[in-house]
Amino acid sequence: MRFDTIIIGGGLSSLVCGIAQQKAGRKCLIVSAGQNALHFSSGAFGLLSRMPDGTPVDEPLSAIASLPEDHPYSKIGVDGVRAYLDKVQPFFHDCGVELSRCGQTSRNLQRFTPVGSFKPAWFTLNETDVFASKDARIEGKVLIVNFAGFLDFNSRFIAEGLERRGAACRIEAVRHPEVERLRVNPSEMRSVNIARVMDREENWKQFVHQVREMMDGEDIVVLPEVFGLTNPSVIGWIAEMIPAKVMFVGTMPPSVPGLRAQKLLKKAFEEAGGMFLPGDVALDPKFDGNRVRSIRTANLGAIEIEADSFVLASGSFFGKGIEAVPGSVTEPVFGLDVDYPADRTSWYAPQMSDRQAYLGFGVKTDGCFHALKDGNVVDNLYVIGAELGGCNPLAEGSGACVAILSAFKVADEIIG
Ligand SMILES: Cc1cc2nc3c(=O)[nH]c(=O)nc-3n(C[C@H](O)[C@H](O)[C@H](O)COP(=O)(O)OP(=O)(O)OC[C@H]3O[C@@H](n4cnc5c(N)ncnc54)[C@H](O)[C@@H]3O)c2cc1C
Repeated sequence: MRFDTIIIGGGLSSLVCGIAQQKAGRKCLIVSAGQNALHFSSGAFGLLSRMPDGTPVDEPLSAIASLPEDHPYSKIGVDGVRAYLDKVQPFFHDCGVELSRCGQTSRNLQRFTPVGSFKPAWFTLNETDVFASKDARIEGKVLIVNFAGFLDFNSRFIAEGLERRGAACRIEAVRHPEVERLRVNPSEMRSVNIARVMDREENWKQFVHQVREMMDGEDIVVLPEVFGLTNPSVIGWIAEMIPAKVMFVGTMPPSVPGLRAQKLLKKAFEEAGGMFLPGDVALDPKFDGNRVRSIRTANLGAIEIEADSFVLASGSFFGKGIEAVPGSVTEPVFGLDVDYPADRTSWYAPQMSDRQAYLGFGVKTDGCFHALKDGNVVDNLYVIGAELGGCNPLAEGSGACVAILSAFKVADEIIG
Protein backbone atom coordinates (compact mmCIF):
# COMPACT_ATOMS: atom_id res chain seq x y z
CA MET A 1 0.00 0.00 0.00
CA ARG A 2 1.32 3.44 -0.86
CA PHE A 3 0.17 7.01 -0.06
CA ASP A 4 1.56 10.47 -0.68
CA THR A 5 1.35 11.25 3.06
CA ILE A 6 0.70 9.15 6.15
CA ILE A 7 -0.45 11.07 9.25
CA ILE A 8 -0.27 9.42 12.66
CA GLY A 9 -2.98 10.56 15.12
CA GLY A 10 -6.63 11.49 14.58
CA GLY A 11 -6.96 14.77 16.50
CA LEU A 12 -7.29 18.41 15.49
CA SER A 13 -3.77 18.83 14.06
CA SER A 14 -3.92 15.61 12.05
CA LEU A 15 -7.32 16.32 10.49
CA VAL A 16 -6.44 19.92 9.54
CA CYS A 17 -3.15 18.77 7.97
CA GLY A 18 -4.90 15.92 6.15
CA ILE A 19 -7.74 18.06 4.77
CA ALA A 20 -5.31 20.77 3.57
CA GLN A 21 -3.23 18.17 1.71
CA GLN A 22 -6.21 16.29 0.24
CA LYS A 23 -7.54 19.60 -1.10
CA ALA A 24 -4.19 20.10 -2.82
CA GLY A 25 -4.52 16.70 -4.50
CA ARG A 26 -2.31 14.57 -2.26
CA LYS A 27 -3.50 11.08 -1.28
CA CYS A 28 -3.43 10.88 2.54
CA LEU A 29 -3.89 8.16 5.15
CA ILE A 30 -4.67 9.00 8.79
CA VAL A 31 -4.00 6.29 11.40
CA SER A 32 -5.87 7.14 14.61
CA ALA A 33 -5.46 5.14 17.80
CA GLY A 34 -8.25 6.55 19.95
CA GLN A 35 -9.69 9.53 21.79
CA ASN A 36 -8.16 12.93 21.19
CA ALA A 37 -8.19 16.29 22.99
CA LEU A 38 -11.20 17.56 20.98
CA HIS A 39 -13.35 15.07 22.92
CA PHE A 40 -12.46 17.12 26.04
CA SER A 41 -12.48 20.56 24.39
CA SER A 42 -13.78 23.56 26.29
CA GLY A 43 -15.32 24.82 23.03
CA ALA A 44 -12.62 27.51 22.90
CA PHE A 45 -9.51 27.54 20.73
CA GLY A 46 -6.65 29.29 22.52
CA LEU A 47 -3.95 31.31 20.72
CA LEU A 48 -1.79 32.50 23.63
CA SER A 49 -2.95 33.64 27.05
CA ARG A 50 0.30 33.32 29.07
CA MET A 51 3.97 33.69 28.24
CA PRO A 52 6.27 30.77 29.12
CA ASP A 53 7.23 32.60 32.38
CA GLY A 54 3.54 32.81 33.36
CA THR A 55 2.95 36.51 32.51
CA PRO A 56 -0.69 36.94 31.34
CA VAL A 57 -1.12 37.92 27.68
CA ASP A 58 -3.98 40.17 26.48
CA GLU A 59 -2.63 40.89 22.97
CA PRO A 60 -1.33 37.55 21.66
CA LEU A 61 -0.22 38.81 18.23
CA SER A 62 2.15 41.33 19.80
CA ALA A 63 3.41 38.83 22.40
CA ILE A 64 4.27 36.15 19.81
CA ALA A 65 7.30 38.17 18.65
CA SER A 66 8.85 37.75 22.13
CA LEU A 67 8.50 33.95 22.35
CA PRO A 68 11.67 31.81 22.48
CA GLU A 69 13.01 30.75 19.07
CA ASP A 70 12.15 27.07 19.55
CA HIS A 71 8.44 27.89 20.14
CA PRO A 72 6.23 26.63 17.24
CA TYR A 73 4.91 30.19 16.63
CA SER A 74 8.49 31.51 16.33
CA LYS A 75 9.20 28.84 13.69
CA ILE A 76 6.10 29.90 11.74
CA GLY A 77 7.02 33.59 12.20
CA VAL A 78 4.80 36.50 13.22
CA ASP A 79 3.67 37.18 9.62
CA GLY A 80 3.03 33.48 9.06
CA VAL A 81 0.93 33.26 12.24
CA ARG A 82 -1.17 36.26 11.14
CA ALA A 83 -1.66 34.87 7.62
CA TYR A 84 -2.65 31.42 8.88
CA LEU A 85 -5.03 32.89 11.49
CA ASP A 86 -6.89 34.64 8.65
CA LYS A 87 -7.38 31.25 6.97
CA VAL A 88 -8.78 29.47 10.05
CA GLN A 89 -12.45 30.53 9.99
CA PRO A 90 -12.97 30.00 6.21
CA PHE A 91 -11.15 26.64 6.36
CA PHE A 92 -13.37 25.38 9.22
CA HIS A 93 -16.50 26.87 7.62
CA ASP A 94 -15.81 24.77 4.49
CA CYS A 95 -15.75 21.71 6.78
CA GLY A 96 -19.10 22.65 8.37
CA VAL A 97 -17.53 23.92 11.62
CA GLU A 98 -18.43 27.53 12.48
CA LEU A 99 -15.85 29.30 14.62
CA SER A 100 -16.79 32.59 16.29
CA ARG A 101 -14.42 35.47 16.71
CA CYS A 102 -16.42 38.35 18.11
CA GLY A 103 -15.32 41.63 16.48
CA GLN A 104 -11.95 42.43 14.92
CA THR A 105 -10.19 43.01 18.22
CA SER A 106 -6.55 42.01 18.58
CA ARG A 107 -7.17 41.08 22.24
CA ASN A 108 -8.02 37.70 23.71
CA LEU A 109 -11.75 37.26 24.22
CA GLN A 110 -13.28 35.63 27.30
CA ARG A 111 -15.51 32.56 27.44
CA PHE A 112 -17.71 31.67 30.40
CA THR A 113 -16.63 28.32 31.90
CA PRO A 114 -18.74 25.55 33.50
CA VAL A 115 -17.39 26.64 36.90
CA GLY A 116 -18.61 30.20 36.47
CA SER A 117 -15.32 31.95 35.65
CA PHE A 118 -13.94 33.64 32.52
CA LYS A 119 -11.08 32.04 30.54
CA PRO A 120 -9.27 33.56 27.52
CA ALA A 121 -10.16 32.31 24.03
CA TRP A 122 -9.26 33.29 20.46
CA PHE A 123 -11.92 31.34 18.53
CA THR A 124 -14.93 29.51 19.96
CA LEU A 125 -16.98 26.68 18.49
CA ASN A 126 -20.49 27.62 17.29
CA GLU A 127 -22.57 28.07 20.36
CA THR A 128 -19.95 28.99 22.98
CA ASP A 129 -20.46 32.69 23.85
CA VAL A 130 -17.54 35.09 24.08
CA PHE A 131 -17.21 38.37 25.93
CA ALA A 132 -14.96 41.31 25.14
CA SER A 133 -13.17 41.53 28.50
CA LYS A 134 -12.80 39.68 31.78
CA ASP A 135 -14.58 42.60 33.49
CA ALA A 136 -17.67 42.20 31.26
CA ARG A 137 -20.98 42.60 33.12
CA ILE A 138 -23.84 40.15 32.47
CA GLU A 139 -26.84 42.03 33.73
CA GLY A 140 -30.55 41.22 33.79
CA LYS A 141 -32.78 38.32 34.83
CA VAL A 142 -31.27 34.92 34.02
CA LEU A 143 -32.93 31.51 33.92
CA ILE A 144 -30.49 28.56 34.13
CA VAL A 145 -32.05 25.31 32.92
CA ASN A 146 -30.51 21.89 33.50
CA PHE A 147 -31.74 18.32 33.08
CA ALA A 148 -32.79 16.84 36.43
CA GLY A 149 -29.95 14.68 37.79
CA PHE A 150 -27.30 15.82 35.27
CA LEU A 151 -24.28 16.42 37.51
CA ASP A 152 -21.81 17.46 34.76
CA PHE A 153 -23.52 20.85 34.45
CA ASN A 154 -23.29 22.61 37.79
CA SER A 155 -26.06 25.22 37.76
CA ARG A 156 -25.04 26.54 41.22
CA PHE A 157 -21.46 27.40 40.13
CA ILE A 158 -22.80 29.01 36.96
CA ALA A 159 -25.35 31.09 38.92
CA GLU A 160 -22.66 32.27 41.37
CA GLY A 161 -20.39 33.29 38.46
CA LEU A 162 -23.19 35.19 36.72
CA GLU A 163 -24.35 36.87 39.94
CA ARG A 164 -20.78 38.14 40.55
CA ARG A 165 -21.15 39.88 37.16
CA GLY A 166 -24.47 41.50 37.97
CA ALA A 167 -27.12 38.94 36.95
CA ALA A 168 -30.14 37.85 39.00
CA CYS A 169 -30.38 34.06 38.51
CA ARG A 170 -33.07 31.45 38.91
CA ILE A 171 -32.35 27.72 38.46
CA GLU A 172 -34.81 25.19 37.07
CA ALA A 173 -34.53 21.54 36.03
CA VAL A 174 -36.32 19.86 33.13
CA ARG A 175 -37.51 16.26 33.29
CA HIS A 176 -37.62 14.60 29.91
CA PRO A 177 -38.90 11.00 29.72
CA GLU A 178 -36.04 9.74 27.50
CA VAL A 179 -33.34 11.52 29.49
CA GLU A 180 -34.94 10.14 32.68
CA ARG A 181 -34.20 6.63 31.34
CA LEU A 182 -30.47 7.49 31.35
CA ARG A 183 -30.69 8.19 35.10
CA VAL A 184 -31.29 4.48 35.84
CA ASN A 185 -27.53 4.06 35.39
CA PRO A 186 -25.72 7.19 36.69
CA SER A 187 -22.68 6.55 34.43
CA GLU A 188 -24.99 6.95 31.40
CA MET A 189 -26.12 10.43 32.47
CA ARG A 190 -23.36 12.08 30.43
CA SER A 191 -23.42 15.03 28.05
CA VAL A 192 -23.01 12.95 24.92
CA ASN A 193 -25.83 10.53 25.84
CA ILE A 194 -28.19 13.42 26.55
CA ALA A 195 -27.08 14.97 23.24
CA ARG A 196 -28.01 11.75 21.39
CA VAL A 197 -31.52 11.96 22.88
CA MET A 198 -31.75 15.69 22.11
CA ASP A 199 -30.68 15.08 18.49
CA ARG A 200 -34.23 13.95 17.70
CA GLU A 201 -36.43 16.85 16.60
CA GLU A 202 -39.40 15.90 18.79
CA ASN A 203 -37.14 15.79 21.86
CA TRP A 204 -35.37 19.15 21.50
CA LYS A 205 -38.68 20.79 20.54
CA GLN A 206 -40.31 19.35 23.67
CA PHE A 207 -37.35 20.66 25.72
CA VAL A 208 -37.76 24.15 24.23
CA HIS A 209 -41.46 24.02 25.02
CA GLN A 210 -40.66 23.13 28.67
CA VAL A 211 -38.17 26.02 28.90
CA ARG A 212 -40.68 28.49 27.49
CA GLU A 213 -43.25 27.31 30.08
CA MET A 214 -40.73 27.98 32.87
CA MET A 215 -39.83 31.48 31.72
CA ASP A 216 -40.93 34.53 33.67
CA GLY A 217 -39.70 37.50 31.61
CA GLU A 218 -36.00 36.54 31.76
CA ASP A 219 -33.48 38.40 29.54
CA ILE A 220 -31.09 35.46 29.30
CA VAL A 221 -31.63 31.69 29.32
CA VAL A 222 -28.56 29.54 30.09
CA LEU A 223 -28.53 25.99 28.69
CA PRO A 224 -25.94 23.17 28.79
CA GLU A 225 -24.01 22.48 25.55
CA VAL A 226 -25.78 19.20 24.77
CA PHE A 227 -27.54 20.10 21.50
CA GLY A 228 -26.83 19.68 17.80
CA LEU A 229 -24.43 16.73 18.09
CA THR A 230 -25.08 15.70 14.49
CA ASN A 231 -26.86 18.79 13.17
CA PRO A 232 -25.33 22.09 14.34
CA SER A 233 -28.31 24.04 12.90
CA VAL A 234 -30.39 22.86 15.87
CA ILE A 235 -28.46 25.28 18.10
CA GLY A 236 -29.62 28.28 16.06
CA TRP A 237 -33.19 26.98 15.90
CA ILE A 238 -33.32 26.59 19.70
CA ALA A 239 -31.97 30.12 20.14
CA GLU A 240 -34.64 31.47 17.78
CA MET A 241 -37.51 29.66 19.52
CA ILE A 242 -36.67 30.91 23.03
CA PRO A 243 -37.80 34.54 23.54
CA ALA A 244 -34.59 35.70 25.29
CA LYS A 245 -30.85 35.69 24.62
CA VAL A 246 -29.76 32.05 24.85
CA MET A 247 -26.32 31.42 26.35
CA PHE A 248 -24.95 27.90 25.96
CA VAL A 249 -22.41 26.95 28.66
CA GLY A 250 -20.03 23.96 28.48
CA THR A 251 -20.46 20.81 30.53
CA MET A 252 -17.80 18.59 32.07
CA PRO A 253 -16.30 16.24 29.40
CA PRO A 254 -17.04 14.67 27.04
CA SER A 255 -17.48 17.88 25.07
CA VAL A 256 -20.44 17.88 22.67
CA PRO A 257 -19.11 20.82 20.56
CA GLY A 258 -15.67 19.14 20.43
CA LEU A 259 -17.10 15.76 19.38
CA ARG A 260 -19.23 17.45 16.72
CA ALA A 261 -16.21 19.33 15.36
CA GLN A 262 -14.15 16.13 15.24
CA LYS A 263 -16.91 14.28 13.33
CA LEU A 264 -17.30 17.13 10.82
CA LEU A 265 -13.54 17.42 10.22
CA LYS A 266 -13.25 13.64 9.74
CA LYS A 267 -16.19 13.77 7.30
CA ALA A 268 -14.54 16.63 5.39
CA PHE A 269 -11.27 14.66 5.20
CA GLU A 270 -13.03 11.55 3.88
CA GLU A 271 -15.18 13.53 1.43
CA ALA A 272 -11.99 15.08 0.06
CA GLY A 273 -10.82 11.51 -0.66
CA GLY A 274 -8.66 10.79 2.43
CA MET A 275 -8.55 7.37 4.13
CA PHE A 276 -9.07 7.29 7.93
CA LEU A 277 -8.13 4.17 9.91
CA PRO A 278 -9.89 4.45 13.30
CA GLY A 279 -8.82 2.40 16.32
CA ASP A 280 -5.46 1.50 14.81
CA VAL A 281 -1.92 2.15 16.02
CA ALA A 282 1.07 3.08 13.86
CA LEU A 283 4.21 1.11 14.65
CA ASP A 284 7.42 -0.46 13.34
CA PRO A 285 8.81 2.27 11.03
CA LYS A 286 11.43 1.33 8.44
CA PHE A 287 14.09 3.90 7.53
CA ASP A 288 16.16 4.37 4.37
CA GLY A 289 19.02 6.51 5.64
CA ASN A 290 17.54 9.79 6.88
CA ARG A 291 14.08 9.09 5.41
CA VAL A 292 11.15 7.02 6.67
CA ARG A 293 10.15 4.42 4.05
CA SER A 294 7.14 2.71 5.67
CA ILE A 295 5.18 1.93 8.80
CA ARG A 296 2.93 -0.94 9.82
CA THR A 297 -0.23 -0.75 11.91
CA ALA A 298 -1.52 -3.04 14.64
CA ASN A 299 -4.66 -4.00 12.65
CA LEU A 300 -3.04 -4.42 9.22
CA GLY A 301 -0.42 -6.84 10.56
CA ALA A 302 2.55 -7.53 8.29
CA ILE A 303 1.49 -5.12 5.51
CA GLU A 304 4.02 -2.32 5.09
CA ILE A 305 2.46 1.04 4.16
CA GLU A 306 4.79 3.35 2.27
CA ALA A 307 4.59 7.11 1.71
CA ASP A 308 6.63 10.05 0.44
CA SER A 309 5.95 12.07 3.60
CA PHE A 310 5.02 11.19 7.18
CA VAL A 311 3.45 13.50 9.79
CA LEU A 312 3.50 12.66 13.50
CA ALA A 313 0.41 14.20 15.16
CA SER A 314 0.12 11.80 18.07
CA GLY A 315 -0.47 14.33 20.87
CA SER A 316 1.43 14.64 24.11
CA PHE A 317 1.16 12.32 27.15
CA PHE A 318 -2.62 12.50 26.83
CA GLY A 319 -2.64 10.83 23.38
CA LYS A 320 0.33 8.56 24.28
CA GLY A 321 2.46 10.42 21.74
CA ILE A 322 5.01 10.89 24.54
CA GLU A 323 5.69 8.36 27.28
CA ALA A 324 7.61 8.71 30.54
CA VAL A 325 9.32 6.08 32.67
CA PRO A 326 11.34 6.99 35.77
CA GLY A 327 14.39 8.79 34.40
CA SER A 328 13.48 9.20 30.72
CA VAL A 329 10.84 10.48 28.31
CA THR A 330 10.42 8.84 24.91
CA GLU A 331 8.50 9.14 21.64
CA PRO A 332 7.28 5.56 21.15
CA VAL A 333 6.70 5.22 17.36
CA PHE A 334 9.93 6.50 15.76
CA GLY A 335 12.19 6.89 18.82
CA LEU A 336 12.59 10.63 18.09
CA ASP A 337 14.55 13.10 20.22
CA VAL A 338 12.42 14.51 23.05
CA ASP A 339 13.13 17.87 24.66
CA TYR A 340 13.12 17.45 28.48
CA PRO A 341 15.47 18.30 31.34
CA ALA A 342 17.61 15.51 32.82
CA ASP A 343 16.78 16.51 36.41
CA ARG A 344 13.57 14.60 37.12
CA THR A 345 12.66 16.78 40.12
CA SER A 346 12.11 19.71 37.71
CA TRP A 347 9.53 17.77 35.66
CA TYR A 348 6.59 18.57 37.90
CA ALA A 349 5.40 21.06 40.51
CA PRO A 350 3.98 19.65 43.76
CA GLN A 351 0.69 21.59 43.46
CA MET A 352 -1.50 20.12 40.70
CA SER A 353 -2.79 23.59 39.77
CA ASP A 354 0.76 24.99 39.26
CA ARG A 355 2.44 25.17 35.84
CA GLN A 356 3.58 21.59 35.14
CA ALA A 357 6.84 21.48 33.17
CA TYR A 358 6.21 17.93 31.88
CA LEU A 359 3.25 19.16 29.85
CA GLY A 360 5.76 21.11 27.75
CA PHE A 361 7.91 18.10 26.85
CA GLY A 362 7.75 17.25 23.16
CA VAL A 363 9.66 16.13 20.09
CA LYS A 364 12.59 18.25 18.91
CA THR A 365 12.24 19.65 15.38
CA ASP A 366 14.14 21.93 13.03
CA GLY A 367 12.78 25.30 11.83
CA CYS A 368 10.40 23.60 9.33
CA PHE A 369 9.04 21.03 11.86
CA HIS A 370 11.16 18.12 10.52
CA ALA A 371 11.67 15.60 13.34
CA LEU A 372 15.11 15.08 14.87
CA LYS A 373 16.37 11.57 15.62
CA ASP A 374 19.73 11.07 17.35
CA GLY A 375 20.44 14.73 16.57
CA ASN A 376 19.86 14.30 12.79
CA VAL A 377 16.99 15.69 10.70
CA VAL A 378 14.61 13.06 9.32
CA ASP A 379 13.98 14.55 5.85
CA ASN A 380 10.40 13.35 5.22
CA LEU A 381 9.02 13.16 8.79
CA TYR A 382 7.26 16.21 10.26
CA VAL A 383 5.82 16.80 13.74
CA ILE A 384 2.71 18.93 14.51
CA GLY A 385 0.32 19.79 17.34
CA ALA A 386 0.66 18.80 20.97
CA GLU A 387 3.51 16.41 20.09
CA LEU A 388 5.79 19.39 19.42
CA GLY A 389 8.43 20.50 21.89
CA GLY A 390 9.09 24.17 22.57
CA CYS A 391 5.72 25.06 24.10
CA ASN A 392 3.48 24.12 27.02
CA PRO A 393 -0.01 24.33 25.41
CA LEU A 394 -2.06 23.99 28.59
CA ALA A 395 0.00 26.46 30.66
CA GLU A 396 0.17 28.96 27.76
CA GLY A 397 -3.42 28.49 26.55
CA SER A 398 -2.08 27.96 23.04
CA GLY A 399 -3.11 24.33 22.38
CA ALA A 400 -5.66 24.50 19.57
CA CYS A 401 -3.95 27.26 17.58
CA VAL A 402 -0.51 25.58 17.84
CA ALA A 403 -2.24 22.43 16.52
CA ILE A 404 -3.99 24.23 13.63
CA LEU A 405 -1.18 26.60 12.60
CA SER A 406 1.56 23.94 12.72
CA ALA A 407 -0.73 21.69 10.63
CA PHE A 408 -1.18 24.45 7.99
CA LYS A 409 2.57 25.13 7.94
CA VAL A 410 3.53 21.46 7.49
CA ALA A 411 0.85 20.92 4.84
CA ASP A 412 2.36 23.88 2.92
CA GLU A 413 5.89 22.46 3.36
CA ILE A 414 4.77 19.10 1.96
CA ILE A 415 2.65 20.51 -0.87
CA GLY A 416 5.59 22.75 -1.81
C1 LIG B 1 -7.87 17.05 27.98
C2 LIG B 1 -7.41 18.19 27.12
C3 LIG B 1 -8.28 19.24 26.84
C4 LIG B 1 -7.86 20.32 26.02
N1 LIG B 1 -8.73 21.33 25.78
C5 LIG B 1 -8.33 22.38 25.03
C6 LIG B 1 -9.21 23.47 24.75
O1 LIG B 1 -10.37 23.48 25.19
N2 LIG B 1 -8.76 24.51 23.99
C7 LIG B 1 -7.47 24.52 23.49
O2 LIG B 1 -7.10 25.50 22.81
N3 LIG B 1 -6.62 23.50 23.74
C8 LIG B 1 -6.99 22.44 24.49
N4 LIG B 1 -6.13 21.40 24.73
C9 LIG B 1 -4.79 21.45 24.16
C10 LIG B 1 -4.67 20.46 22.95
O3 LIG B 1 -3.32 20.09 22.94
C11 LIG B 1 -5.01 21.03 21.58
O4 LIG B 1 -6.16 21.79 21.66
C12 LIG B 1 -5.19 20.08 20.40
O5 LIG B 1 -6.53 19.61 20.32
C13 LIG B 1 -4.23 18.94 20.34
O6 LIG B 1 -4.46 18.25 19.13
P1 LIG B 1 -3.45 17.18 18.54
O7 LIG B 1 -4.08 16.68 17.28
O8 LIG B 1 -2.09 17.75 18.46
O9 LIG B 1 -3.36 16.00 19.64
P2 LIG B 1 -4.50 15.03 20.30
O10 LIG B 1 -5.82 15.68 20.27
O11 LIG B 1 -3.93 14.63 21.61
O12 LIG B 1 -4.54 13.80 19.31
C14 LIG B 1 -3.52 12.86 19.23
C15 LIG B 1 -4.08 11.59 18.63
O13 LIG B 1 -3.01 10.71 18.28
C16 LIG B 1 -3.40 9.37 18.57
N5 LIG B 1 -2.18 8.52 18.63
C17 LIG B 1 -1.19 8.52 19.56
N6 LIG B 1 -0.25 7.58 19.24
C18 LIG B 1 -0.68 6.99 18.10
C19 LIG B 1 -0.17 5.94 17.29
N7 LIG B 1 0.99 5.32 17.55
N8 LIG B 1 -0.88 5.57 16.19
C20 LIG B 1 -2.04 6.19 15.85
N9 LIG B 1 -2.58 7.19 16.60
C21 LIG B 1 -1.90 7.58 17.70
C22 LIG B 1 -4.15 9.53 19.87
O14 LIG B 1 -4.96 8.40 20.13
C23 LIG B 1 -4.98 10.79 19.58
O15 LIG B 1 -6.17 10.47 18.90
C24 LIG B 1 -6.53 20.33 25.52
C25 LIG B 1 -5.66 19.27 25.82
C26 LIG B 1 -6.09 18.24 26.60
C27 LIG B 1 -5.11 17.12 26.91
